[in-house]
Amino acid sequence: MALLDLQGVSKSFGGLAALSNVDLQVEEGQAHAIIGPNGAGKSTLINAITGRLTPDMGSVTFAGQSLLGLKPHQIVQQGIARVFQTPEIFHDMTCLENVTIAALAHRDGAFKPNFLQHPRRMRQQRDAAAERLAEVGLADQREMPAGHLARGDKRRLELAICLANNPRMLLLDEPTAGMAQHETQNTIQVLKRIGEKGMTKIVIEHDMGVVFSLADKITVLHQGTVIASGAPEQVREDPAVHEAYLGG
Ligand code: ADP
Ligand code: MG
Repeated sequence: MALLDLQGVSKSFGGLAALSNVDLQVEEGQAHAIIGPNGAGKSTLINAITGRLTPDMGSVTFAGQSLLGLKPHQIVQQGIARVFQTPEIFHDMTCLENVTIAALAHRDGAFKPNFLQHPRRMRQQRDAAAERLAEVGLADQREMPAGHLARGDKRRLELAICLANNPRMLLLDEPTAGMAQHETQNTIQVLKRIGEKGMTKIVIEHDMGVVFSLADKITVLHQGTVIASGAPEQVREDPAVHEAYLGG
């Protein structure tokens, strides 16, 4: 059984069908890329998964449970985290404090000040936060105020904040958009490292280099419908994909 299973998902805005009868199966532990030209429906699909909008038709199931009708924060609690869309960074706090607080806020539902009176638990949280920062390559910046980070590093801090909540599935909407080449390469390495721990990922990405170096499976959207889905080699050779998207 797929970890995430969408069946027959449709969504229209006025007369425009942004998604038409979309099926999507994401297997646990895989990196699943969603590609397609501008306006293909990629962001709408992500919004349907994260509860920011409700499909007109179809089902969205995660780990065997329907997500339909759940609020975005309830979907986060199911273990689905969206990266690079909610930069809730406290600029005056250090990177380490940012990640520590994110983990506390997630676990306790709301941040409880009395937690600070338990030094041992606090220390455990800080150690876990330091580990998350190391995972994204920010070990050396952990005592730096988050506001002083370079732009690419800020996005990696956001990723560390998401990881602090131990999600089962990460959604990344164009994680390398606007990044310089070396930052893009860094981000690919970080995302691969996260994948080695078995975390499921959905990546929306324009950069085909990124897609082909990361993805276990690729789904191609075109005008709201799935025109191909499969292994990267398969999708790369698909004539319909070439015609619609890769430029003939
Ligand atoms: P992509 O992310 O693949 O570029 P989107 O999912 O953002 O595509 O958009 C798909 C189509 O739906 C586009 O034609 C877009 O203009 C339209 N659309 C998206 N969101 C809305 C909205 N909230 N209201 C009206 N139209 C929308
Ligand atoms: Mg989009």
